[in-house]
Amino acid sequence: MKIENDILCNKCGQSCKVLIDAEHTCFNMEGLRAKIRAGYGSQFDGSILKFDLCDDCVAELIKTFKIPVQETEYDLFTGEEILR
Ligand SMILES: [Zn+2]
Repeated sequence: MKIENDILCNKCGQSCKVLIDAEHTCFNMEGLRAKIRAGYGSQFDGSILKFDLCDDCVAELIKTFKIPVQETEYDLFTGEEILR
């Protein structure tokens, strides 16, 4: 969801802006914008679901998972994805 110059969390409605310092904010959206393609036969039957979640809602959501998420990051020098 994008409203003017802001991106709002679909779950809680809060801004997804991340305060960098007193004068700068940015949208820390990488990895928080979800696009899920539902398979045929699922209750969403082939739909593409798109939504944004703020940092807090992502943290809250993954705490509810029985199986932990796999967390990786990109190595700045090699560009390879590495486990954290
Ligand atoms: Zn939220």
